[in-house]
Amino acid sequence: MDPIVLITGGGRGIGAATALLAARRGFAVALSYVSNAQAAQEVVRRIEAEGGRALAVQADVGNEAQVLAMFREVDDKLGRLSALVNNAGVVDVQARLDEMSVARLERMMRVNVVGSFVCAREAVRRMSTRHGGAGGVIVNLSSAAARLGSPDQYIDYAASKGAIDTLTIGLAKEVAEEGIRVNGVRPGLIDTEIHASGGMPQRAFELAHTVPMKRVGSAQEIANAIVWLLSPEASYVTGASIDVSGGR
Ligand code: NAP
Repeated sequence: MDPIVLITGGGRGIGAATALLAARRGFAVALSYVSNAQAAQEVVRRIEAEGGRALAVQADVGNEAQVLAMFREVDDKLGRLSALVNNAGVVDVQARLDEMSVARLERMMRVNVVGSFVCAREAVRRMSTRHGGAGGVIVNLSSAAARLGSPDQYIDYAASKGAIDTLTIGLAKEVAEEGIRVNGVRPGLIDTEIHASGGMPQRAFELAHTVPMKRVGSAQEIANAIVWLLSPEASYVTGASIDVSGGR
């Protein structure tokens, strides 16, 4: 039986690159999307064309009922989960803290923090030996922003990723004896559509000069780290967050 991975936000960007690579490494892949069904179905089509198994599921990670329905659909259609990639995440438009509304802050924390916590909770309920599971792996997408703070841009986003780093540390210790490894990846400036969604389509390229390696990274370079953490090659790695940021 192939291992089964659920990748939230697997229709585009880093999630899509991770879905394609995980399928090539033998995972049956469930990938979620919130609104772009076409992009998610295209990833499914590409995986199936290469002989893999894939399923696209619509669910807002910030909505508990939709997350519960998503996990049930994966249980029913693919089987018992072996791995979760907590990848879905949002940014917002550039703003100083003294300009931020509570509505903005609540959306940021609901999607990036509560969404990742609830997905991790559902994964632990399925994978932990304490719950009769066979163990598994969780990879959380943080950001170099958690270290840099993103002043004048989006401190709220940076703080949401700081919470993800703490989730990785604490959950890794909580479930270490229950067969589950929990790790994080902190991407730097990566060429995806997330920057356009924050109103700055050229952001990564404009800031490339601040990267010691003087270039942006690709979604593929992040996927390589995520899929390594998912693999048995990382069998003694837990509670770690890997910077994949060109030295930034
Ligand atoms: P992206 O290209 O904007 O793709 C985001 C994906 O997440 C899309 O598939 C989107 O679904 C999904 N998504 C967004 N909100 C969602 C929600 N509420 N519920 C479920 N899915 C949702 O982003 P990316 O650049 O690949 O980023 C992936 C992760 O890496 C994020 O956690 C991000 O914070 C982190 N990261 C990215 C960078 C970077 O430079 N790109 C740097 C550091 C960290 P739809 O396709 O349906 O819209």
